[in-house]
Amino acid sequence: MNLFFRRVPPIIRPMASPISRSKVSIPHTERTAKEPRDNNLHKVLLERMEQVNDDIRLFRLVPADREKGLMKFLAGQWLDVHVPTIPKAGGFTITSPPSLLNSQEPYIELAIQKSPSNPPAAWLWRPSDSILGSELQVRVGGSFTWPSANFQAEARKLKRAVFVAGGVGINPLMSMLSQLVINREAKDDFEVQFLYSTKDPGPSNLSRILFLGRVQQLFKALGDKSQLQLFLTQSKDKQIDSKSQVAGEDMSIQRRRIQEEDLLRALGPVDERIDTVCYICGVPGMTDAFVELAQKAEGVDARNVFCEKWW
Ligand SMILES: Cc1cc2nc3c(=O)[nH]c(=O)nc-3n(C[C@H](O)[C@H](O)[C@H](O)COP(=O)(O)OP(=O)(O)OC[C@H]3O[C@@H](n4cnc5c(N)ncnc54)[C@H](O)[C@@H]3O)c2cc1C
Repeated sequence: MNLFFRRVPPIIRPMASPISRSKVSIPHTERTAKEPRDNNLHKVLLERMEQVNDDIRLFRLVPADREKGLMKFLAGQWLDVHVPTIPKAGGFTITSPPSLLNSQEPYIELAIQKSPSNPPAAWLWRPSDSILGSELQVRVGGSFTWPSANFQAEARKLKRAVFVAGGVGINPLMSMLSQLVINREAKDDFEVQFLYSTKDPGPSNLSRILFLGRVQQLFKALGDKSQLQLFLTQSKDKQIDSKSQVAGEDMSIQRRRIQEEDLLRALGPVDERIDTVCYICGVPGMTDAFVELAQKAEGVDARNVFCEKWW
């Protein structure tokens, strides 16, 4: 079956037990065995690495054998990543938009958190000069995708997209937001509400927050109704509800966790929620709570609430 022409059922697909916060110690391919996967493995070269902060590395992968055809993926999908010498693949989400694979210099980007107990992640955290230039093999998979198959199938007009990211859970949402802006889906009658919760890196260290600058840039292309809200957790600075200017952009920064009212407000007026989609990706506890809240919110079609959990 060709993954890219398959209509993905618009259902919630939790990656781990919905109530358990404990880690399930199984490799990625087994954990995601029920997810759709492309048949083909593609060779890529690890071309570039950039360290965003103490915990996150960004990688640029370029196709190694273009004559065999470029891989295809949908925004939000992940890769089985086979690294040299490690028998089982790791699972990491593509953070770049699909259209970049058709550009003059095609590449895909991954953002990988330091995880010494995960063999493929540990390999990717080796000293850069020992891994750059290596050939990896990757396979595309996953059903947490943009655009929403639901709206496409019913030819309905989407009016609002709500994205909720917890920490490195911003990865699939980064690809989705980028593709949405490239496709110019963001017009005056369409709005994006983006709630991003992450650990406070401390004052004047906002540039160390994964993808914050990139998200701010993309918001310039969105209409006035669209809004980016940053929630900084475990903050030493107890200033609450500050309206801060970062890199010349207006962005609401609040030093607390995302709360129920934040999500309900982002979902918009009850009579417009039928035309809203909601994408949530974060740690399991947060994801479960917000999925339940969004699905039960008045006016929301529960089939339009999607999530992905990693740990
Ligand atoms: C759909 C999906 C997308 C993800 N996207 C990203 C991403 O973009 N960036 C990111 O940083 N992380 C991502 N992750 C998480 C990543 O795959 C690992 O789960 C993470 O690195 C944590 O690893 P861990 O060993 O701490 O825990 P787990 O992955 O839960 O592994 C627990 C234990 O299982 C064993 N194990 C796991 N994988 C392997 C393996 N391949 N070979 C041998 N033994 C293994 C090890 O003993 C390990 O200690 C994603 C996960 C999923 C399911």
